[in-house]
Amino acid sequence: MRKIAVYGKGGIGKSTTVSNLSAALAARGLKVMQIGCDPKADSTRNLTGGVKIKTVLDVLRDKYEATLQDIVTEGELGVLCVEAGGPVPGVGCAGRGIITAFEKLKELEAYEIYQPDIVLYDVLGDVVCGGFAMPIRGGYADEVCIVTSGEMMSLYAASNIAYAVKSFGGRGYASLKGLILNAKNIEKEEELVRDAAKEMEAPMLFKIDRNPLVQKAEDLGRTVVAAFPDSPLAAEYEKLSRILCP
Ligand code: ADP
Ligand code: SF4
Ligand code: MG
Repeated sequence: MRKIAVYGKGGIGKSTTVSNLSAALAARGLKVMQIGCDPKADSTRNLTGGVKIKTVLDVLRDKYEATLQDIVTEGELGVLCVEAGGPVPGVGCAGRGIITAFEKLKELEAYEIYQPDIVLYDVLGDVVCGGFAMPIRGGYADEVCIVTSGEMMSLYAASNIAYAVKSFGGRGYASLKGLILNAKNIEKEEELVRDAAKEMEAPMLFKIDRNPLVQKAEDLGRTVVAAFPDSPLAAEYEKLSRILCP
């Protein structure tokens, strides 16, 4: 079982990238579980027809005895979808939601029962506190990828995430696999991201172009890979899937 955490600044395109990646891996015949670790809880939306699924925290608030069926939803192409969820705004700790979700999945033996070939964590990287660093620590993820554009704020978040991965790295936790450029079409973007990657001592793994097909698929509540499988963009996501999981 491969476990990859994908981090990045809010709004940079993590969920778009991760859900298309999940779809591309699933289309290759792999069993994929995608775990949204962002209080926005919309990581898996385009795998479930545009409908947000109930989060682990919501389920636990409503029910004392949660079952796997309550927190794992089978999405398009058979991708297993989980959303950790977040606290009521202004109250509680968002990182706590991630920890609670991981503990619940473990307690309910989700990995033994579903036996995914790959688990993808989609994690908000604006604040790299102990809570949001959870997927990097404690053996949850083996590898970390960072989605970024060439914009300063997203490179700033990327650099913080890289720092966190490095500082845990010596203890046998996750390693930094590299950066994924989700283009915003700013000037000299690829150069900027390559330079930042060099500073982080990690490669720039792939570049995804800005493409209106993403919105078209989103309007259908689907991934590009599932809605437009013959498109060049779907082929790009499949290429990315081969880089991460040969
Ligand atoms: P995050 O998960 O990082 O908060 P999202 O994946 O939700 O970000 O992306 C934010 C918005 O950016 C989405 O509504 C999506 O339509 C758009 N987007 C993401 N990647 C692309 C792309 N490659 N081309 C066009 N639009 C994109
Ligand atoms: Fe929790 Fe992190 Fe927010 Fe602190 S910064 S309350 S640890 S999510
Ligand atoms: Mg997201």
